[in-house]
This record gives sequence, C-alpha cells and structure tokens, in this order.
Amino acid sequence: MNRFIVLLTVCFLVWGASLVSAASDPASSNELTKQESKRNLHGAGVQEQGPHSSEVSANPYQARRHIYDKLSTVTGIPWYRLAAIDQYERTMTIANPKKRKTASNPVIGVVVEPPKWVGMLNPDLNDDNPKSIQLFKGIGKDGSGDDRANLNDETDLLYSVASYIGSFGPHNDDFAIGLWNYYENSRAVQRIIQFARLYEHFDRIQINERAFPLPVSATYAYRSTWGMGRHYGGFRIHEGTDIFASHGVPVRSTCFGIVEVKGWNRLGGWRIGIRDINNLYHYYAHLSGYDKQIKQNDIVSPGQIIGWVGSSGYGKPGTSGKFPPHLHFGIYRDRGLIEYAFDPYPSLKKWEQDDKRKERAARKQAAKGKSS
Ligand SMILES: [Zn+2]
Repeated sequence: MNRFIVLLTVCFLVWGASLVSAASDPASSNELTKQESKRNLHGAGVQEQGPHSSEVSANPYQARRHIYDKLSTVTGIPWYRLAAIDQYERTMTIANPKKRKTASNPVIGVVVEPPKWVGMLNPDLNDDNPKSIQLFKGIGKDGSGDDRANLNDETDLLYSVASYIGSFGPHNDDFAIGLWNYYENSRAVQRIIQFARLYEHFDRIQINERAFPLPVSATYAYRSTWGMGRHYGGFRIHEGTDIFASHGVPVRSTCFGIVEVKGWNRLGGWRIGIRDINNLYHYYAHLSGYDKQIKQNDIVSPGQIIGWVGSSGYGKPGTSGKFPPHLHFGIYRDRGLIEYAFDPYPSLKKWEQDDKRKERAARKQAAKGKSS
C-alpha cells in the first residue's frame, strides 16, 4: 500500500516535471535576465560536447561502455540506465564546472559530496572503509574489488550511486522512485529517464551527430541576432537565431533526442522542443505545422522532418502572419534547477558547413556511379 502511494507520488512528479518544463518554455517566460544571458554569451563551460569532440576522442566512449557493461553484469542494472545516470552527472559538471570537482578528463561523470559518501554523521569525511560507511548510512561502496570505497575511484562512484538507485527494484517505476530518492529533483528524474530511453533505443552511447535545421539545398538566410532587443510581450532579449525562409520549407531535428514539448505557445506559436543526450533543449518556433508522425515523447534523429517554416505566434492559437515567415531556433542548457540560453549561431554555422560537405560528397558519389 505504502509502495503504491510512493509510486503515485513519483508518477505525479514525473508528470509535474513535464508540466514544469512546458511552463518554463523559453518563449513563454522572461525568466532569463539580460545580465544572465550576457554572462552566458561570454561564459565558460558552454562549449558543446558535439560531434567534433567525439571524433577527437573515440576511446573514452569505449572505456565508458566497458565500465557500464561490467557493472551491469555485477548489479543486474541494464547498461543504458547506468549510462543515463552517468551522462546526467556529466552534463551537470559541464553546466556547473566550479561547483563540481572532478579529475581532469574523467571517464565516469558521477560526483558525490563526501558527507553523502561516508554518511552524514560520519566524523571521518575521508572514510573509505565500506563497513563503517555502511554503518553511517553513507552510499559509498566498493565496486572495483579492492575492499575500499574510494570517492576518487570512478568504478566505485558509479557502482555506489547505481546500487543505491537500483535497490528500489528493477522495473521502470522502481527506477523512477530510486532516482527521486537519490536526487530529490523531478527534473533530474525526467532527464535520466529520457537519456535511458535514448541509449536503449539506439543501443550505443555515441549519439552526438547533428544536422542544420533546414535542408541546406533550400533558400534561406540568417545572421547572428543574439541579444537584440524585442518588444512583443514585454521587453526581452532575443535568445536565438532567426532563419528566414518561405512558408513550407521543412524544419528538421538538429539532434538525436526526445520531443519534450509540442504545441501552441503565445509567443512561439506552433513550437517544438527536443531534448538531446547532452542535456540541451533545442527549441523551434513559429512553425506553420508539424509532421503528422511527430508526437510528444517521440525519439527523433538528426535531419528528420518535424514540421515546416511558418509565421505562427504572437497571439491566440492559430495566429499567423504578424511577421515574415522564419524559424526561430534556440538552445538551452539544463543546469539542474534552471535552464539558460546560449547563442546557437556558431553551432548553426558548423552544422550548415557539415551538411553542405556531406551533400557535396553524396553528389560526387552519385556522379561517379553514373560514369562507371
Ligand atoms: Zn527569433
């Protein structure tokens, strides 16, 4: 009976989290102050973990997957849940680099504060004895087999956090309850469940490929408009890039991700929000409509059509034509409790070049096929 109530609470929290993220939809709020956006513009820690960095370092992925598989065998927890916990922690470190101390280039992203590791009442914050840690109800455990629960050992870290979360049971609902008990943050629960779905679906951890939101063969124009003032709905600064194109030009997903938000918003019109594996929220606004296939919680891939360029927004549902048709594209980084925007323009430039290069290569290949 108690369990049922806990389960209901967690379902409510997960549901609440999706409402919260809908409510905190970028185009619906003026939450971000001018100062904050400015700081983000110049701020540290906003570099992206994109395809570029994954090319440079293919091995860390193998090393990570190796640890996930090993711990999965020991704990019975599916690798994609271990990967999802680890990835969530990694994105928190990228978003809060000063608050979270890690070794340089760690394979595992999990960070645990000493009191949580050794137990709140444990007088020895450096305790690494699994037995006394257990006595003080710390979460620290030995996952590497050296009889030490070492806060600096990556295997011990992931093993300890996963064991705690896994102790609530094997089912999806148990996992959500375990996550809630560990993080006490409904956004964290929602993120980790999203990440686990992505990893399970694609059955790999390298899912960073990107695409330009419009087909590069289409006619469009854009420039850097970050931070410009705008006045509809109260003064707010422009947190994104406007890509001008005709009504009906396809709008495509820029990433592998999950459709987190879909529907009307007074400012954004028909808009869609996609969460990627790096905990970035890709936001597309002013669409003329959605692809019929796309539903909330769907998994999408880079280049997949999600809707069409339009001029919807700035009024009640269906309002259109108050400005020239364009795609408003924004990216927001989840920082744990809040999200903040950063300038998507440099990423857009890069994705556009990559797509053009791919298209040229494909054309060359096709020409070769014809001539031979
Ligand atoms: Zn815009």
